[in-house]
Amino acid sequence: MHIIDKNFYPGWVRKSMTFTIDDGNLRLDKKFLDYVKPAGIKGTFNLCGNIAVNDVFPALYDGYEIGNHCRMHANAMNDERRKILRDELFDANTADPKYGYRTETEGLYRYHTYAWIYVADDDLYLKLARECQENLVSIFGEERVKGFIWPCGWQNNIPLWEKLKAESYHNIRATGCVKDTNGFSLPADLMHWSFNSNYTCMKETGEQYEAYPDDGQLKFYCFGVHSHDFENAGRWDVLEDFCDRYGNRPCEFWYACVGEIFDYAAAVEKVIVTDEAVVNPTDIDLYITVDGKRVSLRRRSEYKL
Ligand SMILES: [Zn+2]
Repeated sequence: MHIIDKNFYPGWVRKSMTFTIDDGNLRLDKKFLDYVKPAGIKGTFNLCGNIAVNDVFPALYDGYEIGNHCRMHANAMNDERRKILRDELFDANTADPKYGYRTETEGLYRYHTYAWIYVADDDLYLKLARECQENLVSIFGEERVKGFIWPCGWQNNIPLWEKLKAESYHNIRATGCVKDTNGFSLPADLMHWSFNSNYTCMKETGEQYEAYPDDGQLKFYCFGVHSHDFENAGRWDVLEDFCDRYGNRPCEFWYACVGEIFDYAAAVEKVIVTDEAVVNPTDIDLYITVDGKRVSLRRRSEYKL
C-alpha cells in the first residue's frame, strides 16, 4: 500500500500567494510592480478593456495574468436599483444622488455611489463584458485572459450571474472579504470567490498565513485590490514590508497568478490513483509525493507504482 500525497503546488509547497489588482491605473500599477516584481510575487491585473493595440499596457503587464473587469466599469441593474429609477434623462447638474436616471443609450443608466457610475441592464452588461473580453484577448492573447471581476463587487443579480457563467467566464470574483475566514482554503466556489487580504490587514494576515500549520491541504492567499489603495492611504510601506518578508521564498510559497492557481488546483482533483499507477490526465505538470518521495508527474503521463 503506497501513500500518495497529491496536495502540492510546484516546488512541493502547500501555500500559494497571489494578488488581484483592479482598474488598470498605469502610473500606480507600475509603482505596484516596482515592489512585487523583484520579490517574484505574481498575480492578476483586472482591466476594463478599450485598450488600443501597441499601447503601453502589454509591456507593463508582461508576465502577468489579465482579468475582465467589464467595459465602462459597468455595474449591473438589479431589483433595488430598479426601485429608485426615475424616468428622466441624466443631467449631471440637476441629478439627485438618491435616484437613478436613464441615458440616451438604451439599457444604460447613471446611479450615484462613490461617484456617478454607469449601470447597465443585463443585455447591455453582457455586451460590455464581451467587448472587454474581445479587446483584452486581442491585446494579451487568449491564454492570459482569465476570470471575470464584477466592478464594485457582487451585483446582487443572480440571473445575470447565471448568464455570465453560461458564457463560460471563469473565476468570477465576488468581492473582497479582507480577512481570512476559512483557514486560507481555496475558494469553495470559483464562480463566487473573494480575495482575503488588503493593505489594511496584510501585515496581520501575512503573519497568520506564514504561521498557518500544514493540514495537508492546498492553501490560498490573495491580496487586493487597487494600486491606488496604497497610494491614497499613503501606505506603500505595507506593500514594501510584505514583499521584503514574503517575497523570494519559493521553498515555502508558490507565486502564481490567480487563474493559474485555480487551474492547478482543478488539475490536482483530476489525478487518478489505481493499484498500479498515479495518472495525470491533465495538461498541467503536477508535483506529488509517493511514500514521501517527490515525484514530478508530467502532463498526460503516469507514474508506475
Ligand atoms: Zn474596479
